[in-house]
Amino acid sequence: MQPINHATISTSTDVIRPTLVEVNLSRLRENFTAIKQQVTPARMMPILKANAYGHGLVRVAQFFQELGADYIGVAVLEEGILLRESGITIPILVLGGVLGNQIPHFLNFDLTITASSITKLQAIESAAHELGMRAKVHLKIDTGMERIGVHYYSAEGFLTESLRCSHVCIEGIYTHFANAENADLSHARQQLERFESVLSFYEKRAVERPPLVHAANSGAILQLREATFDMVRPGILLYGVYPSKEVQRTVNVKPALTWKSRVVYFKVITPGHPVGYGSTWQTDHNTRAVTVPVGYGDGYFRSMSHKAYVGIRGKRYPVVGSISMDQIVVDIGADSAYNNDDVLLIGEQDGVPIRVEDLAEWAGTIPYEILTNINTRVPRLYVD
Ligand SMILES: *Cc1c(COP(=O)(O)O)cnc(C)c1O
Repeated sequence: MQPINHATISTSTDVIRPTLVEVNLSRLRENFTAIKQQVTPARMMPILKANAYGHGLVRVAQFFQELGADYIGVAVLEEGILLRESGITIPILVLGGVLGNQIPHFLNFDLTITASSITKLQAIESAAHELGMRAKVHLKIDTGMERIGVHYYSAEGFLTESLRCSHVCIEGIYTHFANAENADLSHARQQLERFESVLSFYEKRAVERPPLVHAANSGAILQLREATFDMVRPGILLYGVYPSKEVQRTVNVKPALTWKSRVVYFKVITPGHPVGYGSTWQTDHNTRAVTVPVGYGDGYFRSMSHKAYVGIRGKRYPVVGSISMDQIVVDIGADSAYNNDDVLLIGEQDGVPIRVEDLAEWAGTIPYEILTNINTRVPRLYVD
């Protein structure tokens, strides 16, 4: 018996798993260009954490590198290493906190470190000294997120210490907004003021600021032009999704991701024969139904059971019964559908949109969580 070669299966488009994510690279390009126009002359640091918001880390990084991105932002060390091993050469900032034993890996893979305390900065300085290398560092200031970073009200000692380092290149300084996508921008403005007062340290001491001052995520790019500084850090907006319902849509972007599957089974369901685990739904009249090979094991959240819709042949139909790990059942009423018909999970097909925001609402979450949970069992296909 021949062993199954999964690599062959997942690279050949005609025998690929019927459940797949299609990433439209032209859309990514248009979104990148639209954001760049909004913030020019500031630099662009596309944020690619969590598998590039589900779009596929390596291919998306290559694409943004080709488009002229200045920097890439990821959340964790391993994402940075994978990018370096895949041939990405532009600078990469790891946004998360650093632990002492990770520092040599940052240096060996030429990854920029976020220094979020004096102690961590000193650990970076001494590790770099020991290895005879120079670490690239961005200082993280906490102006109101209370996650990582030195509090704005005690940043002076941190900045003073940074001037003393000789094995660290302080290339940047940044902060992160907690509420930049809200209708009420008062907290974001307060954070911006706090950040600016921290930056005034450099004028007071008559020393040059680090060359890359940055703060703006998608919400701030859209609503807080004063926060542009030297570089911006767009995440969700690059993928064509707005960071909240109420955010002002001052940049026009469109979703790059389509999630689809195919009908694998057709049958008629009759009253008295409930569907799925727990038998939570049954019909009161004969109805047609199709089964689709996607489930919570792919990131199609079980919490969307009894709420979700999918698109088939230009119409929206309800998912019935509880969502299984690998399969869902769709009630198509008196309509027709055939094995192999396309089933739209996220995207637009024949004028029917199923938006990532819809899934977020059905699942009781935000679009970010829907996108980042489409897992690696789902092949990614890139179209231009
Ligand atoms: C995730 C993240 C971003 C991007 O946020 P979006 O809302 O997706 O634009 C920017 N900066 C930091 C530090 C982040 O963690």
